Amino acid sequence: MSKNGAILVLSGPSGAGKSSLIKKIEDHIGAFYFSISTTTRPIREGEIEGVHYHFVDQKEFKQDIEDEHFLEYALVHGNYYGTSIKPVKEALKEGKIVIFDIDVQGHDAVQNRLGDITTSVFITTPTLKELKHRLNARGTDAKEVIEGRIEMATREVQRITEYDYLVINDDLDCAAEQLKSIAQASRLKMPSMKISEFIHEWEENS
Ligand code: 5GP
Repeated sequence: MSKNGAILVLSGPSGAGKSSLIKKIEDHIGAFYFSISTTTRPIREGEIEGVHYHFVDQKEFKQDIEDEHFLEYALVHGNYYGTSIKPVKEALKEGKIVIFDIDVQGHDAVQNRLGDITTSVFITTPTLKELKHRLNARGTDAKEVIEGRIEMATREVQRITEYDYLVINDDLDCAAEQLKSIAQASRLKMPSMKISEFIHEWEENS
């Protein structure tokens, strides 16, 4: 059988440690492609175009929507964020795990379109108090931005049940171990088409 690509969706509040967790597991999960989203939000200090995001203006983003370039897109904190289809398709064809860091709306759209190859994980801090503490300690965002993130986090945790797994990032090493296991298992998720192919081949070899 041909090699499987798989999708791993990571959602959860900014400040939950998604980026640190990906860094910790990246050498242990085989070939993967981290999907670089396109956004209309302003570039932050320390961010690099084409590494963290593709930064575009509203006009360009809307054109991409019209041209159906996005697998999914959403309005988050007043800015557009979207996942381009093309690199995702290529990475899947090469048998890679495609990792998305997207919000709950994006997860919903990906489940609807590619649910049978998608594994999803909600990553969060152990408590709201700890999230507030981490966002304030990070010192990268203005007060209103932090408040917006906290408000969004409070709304998003209500939808944890839509995810396959919940990882509570209390101890980074422990959370990384859990995410590593989930990522490795995500490759073994088999789309129904592949299962039919397997059954057919299994019976052929009698
Ligand atoms: P930030 O501005 O902190 O980088 O991201 C804000 C939120 O947007 C995060 O919850 C992140 O997961 C989400 N996000 C980033 N890229 C995408 C995307 O392509 N699609 C969707 N739906 N959400 C995204």
